[in-house]
Amino acid sequence: SSVLEIKDLHVSVETEQGAKPILKGVDLTIKQGETHAIMGPNGSGKSTLAYAIAGHPRYEVTGGSILLDGEEVLEMGVDERAQAGMFLAMQYPVEIPGVTNANFLRTAKTAIDGEAPAIRTWMKDVKEAMGNLRMDESFAARNVNEGFSGGEKKRNEILQLELLKPKFAVLDETDSGLDVDALKVVSEGVNRAKQNTGLGVLLITHYTRILRYIQPDFVHVFVNGRVAEEGGPELANRLEEEGYDRFLESA
Ligand code: ADP
Ligand code: MG
Ligand code: MG
Repeated sequence: SSVLEIKDLHVSVETEQGAKPILKGVDLTIKQGETHAIMGPNGSGKSTLAYAIAGHPRYEVTGGSILLDGEEVLEMGVDERAQAGMFLAMQYPVEIPGVTNANFLRTAKTAIDGEAPAIRTWMKDVKEAMGNLRMDESFAARNVNEGFSGGEKKRNEILQLELLKPKFAVLDETDSGLDVDALKVVSEGVNRAKQNTGLGVLLITHYTRILRYIQPDFVHVFVNGRVAEEGGPELANRLEEEGYDRFLESA
């Protein structure tokens, strides 16, 4: 089984005024099969962590390391990270004009596996995954995320997750903007991936609501670019009652 280790990670973001330090020494260890919730106020650096793991060029790692089974992820290109089993569901999924969802999924699957999936089983898998996520079949022929509602974009991220079968997924506010029904559908998708492939999950969220559907094994409170407190699922309940004020005052 695999392990993802984030060690003393420092990340700066490129701004017009120059590089601005955002992450100031993050330590996290996630084993395959575990779900870790990262909770924190807006602006605490949660998305920056997600982008740094994914290798977004705007986020510069100035210190520390990210190891996947001992291999330095920071030395891998974006494609290599996906091939190694990393997946990011973005807070704001991007639209890809001119590329259909079906072609995108098949191209991504081929790149990750190193060979094209067998056409008949692939078509069946896509159809089944879309059905599970209550996505109409017409979404296969539409351009990636183009004109999708917020909720449809989030479902589409989970569709990719279910079909690409990564070892570790970073889900950045996958719950934001979802009504309760969509939240359940999306959560079921994540739980299927956990059950079927032993997915390790880094679940980034501002609110505790999604944690009723996707049970975390560990909760990390993120404040000002650092982990301020860690605990089990009970920590999420405390945050629900107390909010983040206690942490913001001491930060
Ligand atoms: P969170 O996801 O926890 O809300 P982010 O990682 O998005 O936090 O942002 C952390 C901090 O970094 C915020 O102060 C934000 O304004 C700043 N930041 C992030 N990306 C950029 C950017 N591209 N340009 C300028 N500032 C940024
Ligand atoms: Mg935010
Ligand atoms: Mg964010």
